[in-house]
Amino acid sequence: MLKENLQELHQQTTPFYVYDMNLLRQTLQTAKKEADKYDYHVHYAFKANVNAPILSEVLKNGFGADCVSGNEIKAAIENGFSPEDVVFAGVGKSDAEINFALDQNIFCFNCESSHELEILNELAEKKNKTARIALRINPNVNANTHKYITTGLEENKFGINSWEIDNVLELLQTLKHIELIGIHFHIGSQITDLTVFKNLCTRVNEFQEWFTSHNIKLQHLNVGGGLGVDYYHPEENAIPDFAAYFGLFNQFLELRPGQQVHFELGRSLVAQSGTLISKVLYIKKGITTNFAILDAGMTELIRPALYQSYHKIENLTSDKAAVKYDVVGPICESSDCFGKAVELPETNRGDLVALRTAGAYGEVMASNYNLREKAKALYI
Ligand SMILES: *Cc1c(COP(=O)(O)O)cnc(C)c1O
Repeated sequence: MLKENLQELHQQTTPFYVYDMNLLRQTLQTAKKEADKYDYHVHYAFKANVNAPILSEVLKNGFGADCVSGNEIKAAIENGFSPEDVVFAGVGKSDAEINFALDQNIFCFNCESSHELEILNELAEKKNKTARIALRINPNVNANTHKYITTGLEENKFGINSWEIDNVLELLQTLKHIELIGIHFHIGSQITDLTVFKNLCTRVNEFQEWFTSHNIKLQHLNVGGGLGVDYYHPEENAIPDFAAYFGLFNQFLELRPGQQVHFELGRSLVAQSGTLISKVLYIKKGITTNFAILDAGMTELIRPALYQSYHKIENLTSDKAAVKYDVVGPICESSDCFGKAVELPETNRGDLVALRTAGAYGEVMASNYNLREKAKALYI
């Protein structure tokens, strides 16, 4: 996609994001088709990317919305998502955000603590409403991913721990403006080892047993998101293996009659469709390494600096013999580095460089640190 459109890419002001809308559509269609086999409901995790043209494709393909802030709920509704398809998670929902979500009659609040339940009940009572909730349970399952994107361990801030559930249920009986409709889990992101999801299923089954033994019927099971993508081979593995992913849940998750299963996928739906394009500003020769200094930095793509994550780097202009470079940005931080000792064709000022797999947690995390301009987006 990039090489075929080189001319158009060269006409843009760098840095900019480019989105492959065909790949996006194919990815969404594949995910939808595989989820439909089992009647699974998939909510798109807005925080991965909230660009309107992308949301429009997500909506067209029949996904709901998974939001983690009031503004994401607002964006969902403004972009045509039905409030009945909106779930709302987050450890720190503000009163204003809760009130907004109550006014919109969203499908479900994923609640993360007993304190939050008490406040939600209070706010719902003031509006004479009943809030549908799922308890976000921390299942203590290791996601085997970077520690900053692990969320399902007891040491993490997310969710209600298993030893608290007794008390939470007692509390729920006193909260008249809350209706428990399900349980929710989200154990982390960029999970590439599917046995992690099998472990999650085992834990969900155990929690279900527990609720059944307490005579509580749960209409909804929400197992969150987290399916990873192949940052090393964006061409060969452009579309994640949704068949294996949903098939695994179908195999291992034990459902009660009439139960609905929900997913919240972000990265796996949008990551491979996006690329950050940058221009080489300078080449600086070092003793052990050369630096290729780009006009894009951590302000456009913070994942390498934040999670030590890998993005494949390609020089779209040069086809000379390979040389090693530390590929860095212009920001005044040593962590503003996209890759060390990266083999690239001999690189010169003005070459276009692609940072692949930047469609998720790329543009949404952009900042104007160093008073940088917001990079634009191009859709092809
Ligand atoms: C971030 C998030 C997701 C999406 O995670 P991905 O790894 O992008 O699929 C789903 N659910 C919740 C609650 C989240 O916070």
